[in-house]
Amino acid sequence: MSVLIYIDQLDGHIKKASIEALSYGSKIAEQSGTDAEAIVIGNVNEDLPSLGKYGVKKIHHVQNESLTQFDSQVYSKLIVQAAQQTGAKTIVFSNNSTGKALAPRVSVQLKAGLVPGAIGLPDTSNTFKVKKNVFSGKAFAYVIVLTEISVISLNVNSYSITELEGTAEVSSLQLSVETPKVKIVDSSKTSGKVALTEADIVVSAGRGLKGPENWKMVEELADHLGAALACSRPVADANWRPHNEHVGQTGIAIAPNLYIAIGISGAIQHLAGVNRSKVIVVINKDPEAPFFKAADYGIVGDAFEVVPKLLDAVKKLKGVA
Ligand SMILES: Cc1cc2nc3c(=O)[nH]c(=O)nc-3n(C[C@H](O)[C@H](O)[C@H](O)COP(=O)(O)OP(=O)(O)OC[C@H]3O[C@@H](n4cnc5c(N)ncnc54)[C@H](O)[C@@H]3O)c2cc1C
Repeated sequence: MSVLIYIDQLDGHIKKASIEALSYGSKIAEQSGTDAEAIVIGNVNEDLPSLGKYGVKKIHHVQNESLTQFDSQVYSKLIVQAAQQTGAKTIVFSNNSTGKALAPRVSVQLKAGLVPGAIGLPDTSNTFKVKKNVFSGKAFAYVIVLTEISVISLNVNSYSITELEGTAEVSSLQLSVETPKVKIVDSSKTSGKVALTEADIVVSAGRGLKGPENWKMVEELADHLGAALACSRPVADANWRPHNEHVGQTGIAIAPNLYIAIGISGAIQHLAGVNRSKVIVVINKDPEAPFFKAADYGIVGDAFEVVPKLLDAVKKLKGVA
């Protein structure tokens, strides 16, 4: 009857989105009077028992030499077996790229109702009703899961992390590991210092910067803020910036705590990927730019004057000026 949470890790490090999923899943378990358990697959370099402070009682750590690289087919079968062995009725993922690959596969195999992109705790008073984002975050929908088992993927940055007392018991389950049907022969990492989907702060720029040669000030600002870099689509299309920085409807959807948009008009397709940011700061020389309607703070001015001043202020604040 427990809740099972999938812990997503990359190169042995647990992603922040998974900490949110742990807090969220633990709260569902508390609401339903049951325990939260978690599953993590592959080698992990972090202290698993300490994750008990997010409310999870038990962590099933699945390790095997064939599990060093993420494979949604193999991983989903392991999670299904873990759910069956633990009797989980709710399985929680983060709605990030791995969660998007795993949650539908798990829900099909368990014949479970799927709620992708949940943004609130389920209302379990009479039914199992979950609030979720629809139309790229422009509207909400409430869905009721009609099956005994539910699979939920939680939108990143939509549930606050709560720290409690306690440690988790780490155990291993007897699971059969399928031979992968595909093999990764080569992979290359994108160059960004901070992963865009995991970043707390994102500094983004658009066509207003005129050309790729003007990105130095944006990179410097991002560096000093510990932020990831993003850009609008035309900027990536023109090869001013790499496509892995393109955010929006056809790019990556992000939800950082702070999104700084420099010289970006705020077209609806751009907003679709960034409108879940907690705080939006817009720097644009056109006071009529549509982005100002979505902004929490706006600076009407020329980016080539405003950004260097902002950079100086950040440096002063950090004591590096
Ligand atoms: C099907 C479809 C999907 C799309 N998907 C995406 C997507 O995923 N992501 C995306 O971003 N776009 C997407 N687009 C494109 C989108 O419609 C816009 O064309 C695009 O977002 C505009 O990019 P921009 O704001 O950088 O450029 P522009 O629209 O050219 O805006 C530049 C802005 O910079 C300001 N500016 C100019 N000079 C300065 C200066 N010196 N200082 C300060 N401000 C200045 C201008 O006032 C202007 O507001 C899509 C379009 C379609 C049709």
